[in-house]
Amino acid sequence: MASDSGDRGSQCTLEFAVQMTCQSCVDAVQKSLKGVEGVQSVEVQLENQMVLVQTTLTSQEVQALLEATGRQAVLKGMGSSHLQNLGAAVAILGGSGSVQGVVRFLQLTPERCLIEGTIGGLEPGLHGLHVHQYGDLTKGCSSCGEHYNPDGTSHGGPQDSDRHRGDLGNIHADGDGQAVFRLEDEQLKVWDVIGRSLVVDEGEDDLGQGGHPLSKVTGNSGERLACGIIARSAGLFQNPKQICSCDGLTIWEERGRPIAGEGRKDSAQPSAHL
Ligand code: ZN
Repeated sequence: MASDSGDRGSQCTLEFAVQMTCQSCVDAVQKSLKGVEGVQSVEVQLENQMVLVQTTLTSQEVQALLEATGRQAVLKGMGSSHLQNLGAAVAILGGSGSVQGVVRFLQLTPERCLIEGTIGGLEPGLHGLHVHQYGDLTKGCSSCGEHYNPDGTSHGGPQDSDRHRGDLGNIHADGDGQAVFRLEDEQLKVWDVIGRSLVVDEGEDDLGQGGHPLSKVTGNSGERLACGIIARSAGLFQNPKQICSCDGLTIWEERGRPIAGEGRKDSAQPSAHL
């Protein structure tokens, strides 16, 4: 796959709020990211308590590096490295069990969507991850509809041309049950998935290859463990007037609860581009 920076994928810019009181704090923050593979540039603004990081790492990884300095770091925004705003979204996942997560979507280019997140409380191993048709959680994850599939195709893997648009394959949970992932997709577009839902499943998605009756339908990945409405977010927050064509509609704030609004309950396509 083509990318800006090799195997780790395309760069994006992460904006963190970090508590910093003096120049030595700035130095410590810069040192924490200096020379780290996957970090392309770091800009620290003491007056704004802000750190901008161009990176191919996940936001979770960068946050951990920043917090290793003994300071709290809060991810405030995420944008493309080209400072275009093509759309960003977030889904806060939860369910009846202990599985919880946050997954962000960022449209890097008109073709390429970055999907990154952290989901915890899983059994170690592989778990299917899919965008589902409806952002309807009135009956929990069971009212999310099927995999988002506007083309009427069969279930497949993320690398297959013949797949559901919502098929993102598997994420891998480590021995502690946490999956930290960063993937890029050329079939999903942020503007198509806002108002729909993201669901993580109990088992491994066989990517349509398992020979089970459900393989070509769901990848036979088992029960839906946790889900969340995919809500629009503002992307990169720094100087939003300059960077994004925001219309003032910010429906997500990292420090507070997401205000997800109504999810989609029908199969209509969005009426307009963001
Ligand atoms: Zn599917």
